[in-house]
Amino acid sequence: MFIQVEVDPAAAGDTALAKKLAEVCPVNIFEADGEGKAVIVEENLDECVLCELCIEAAPPGQVRVTKLYSGETLSR
Ligand code: SF4
Repeated sequence: MFIQVEVDPAAAGDTALAKKLAEVCPVNIFEADGEGKAVIVEENLDECVLCELCIEAAPPGQVRVTKLYSGETLSR
């Protein structure tokens, strides 16, 4: 696994944001669980193209994408 994606717990519980994240990610790394909360689809993580659409879709600091191979974290 080369990529780690984190959603702040407060943001993950935001059902509107969960829906938005599922829509914007081109490789389906986010999905809404039974309660509409954002969850990470682990098996898709390495498909991440580092487009940052998820970071832009969420409030500042709520979504972080880390390149585990370099330690660099993308956020805003
Ligand atoms: S950076 Fe792009 S591909 Fe990676 S998780 Fe975010 S939206 Fe998906």
